[in-house]
Amino acid sequence: MTPLVHVYVGLGSNLDDPADQVRRALDELDSLPLTRCLAASRLYASRPVGPQDQPDFINAVAHLGTRLSPLALLDQLQALEQRHRRIRQRHWGPRTLDLDLLLYGNETLTLPRLQVPHPEMTARAFVLLPLAELSPRLPLPDGRRIAELAGALATPGEIEVLPENAN
Ligand code: ADP
Ligand code: MG
Repeated sequence: MTPLVHVYVGLGSNLDDPADQVRRALDELDSLPLTRCLAASRLYASRPVGPQDQPDFINAVAHLGTRLSPLALLDQLQALEQRHRRIRQRHWGPRTLDLDLLLYGNETLTLPRLQVPHPEMTARAFVLLPLAELSPRLPLPDGRRIAELAGALATPGEIEVLPENAN
């Protein structure tokens, strides 16, 4: 059997009660085959990347243990997006659920369908801040640590922790 691999998944939503979309998706990640959710960050609110004429995003990061291969996990994440009736009208546009595979163990993958580490994660506050909450000392395959990358962000102020009871 495939050994247990530690992976990190970034969640984002800005449509149809985004906080609820993200909370449900965190539960659903824990129910994927051969997969357990080991920890989840708090929810964060952030301004959209790209077009600004859309609602704010709710983001979180989940730390999973999985025995799925990288592409089998990607298939599961994409099926979960579909179950949230993700509508993809335009690149970087609004979506009910976006699931990005950020890190898969210490692997570097460059496949047509899958790049790991996720190519944009080192520049995105809405990934690095929730990830730093979970695992600040975690290194990327190139050795840089999450806290170091989060500290180097140009505009960390574009994101804040969502108050506990807010939706
Ligand atoms: P974005 O998240 O950049 O707004 P999409 O979610 O629409 O864009 O892009 C999904 C596409 O990116 C999928 O076709 C998927 O195969 C590809 N992809 C490549 N690497 C990854 C990754 N690490 N996690 C999720 N999708 C990825
Ligand atoms: Mg995506």
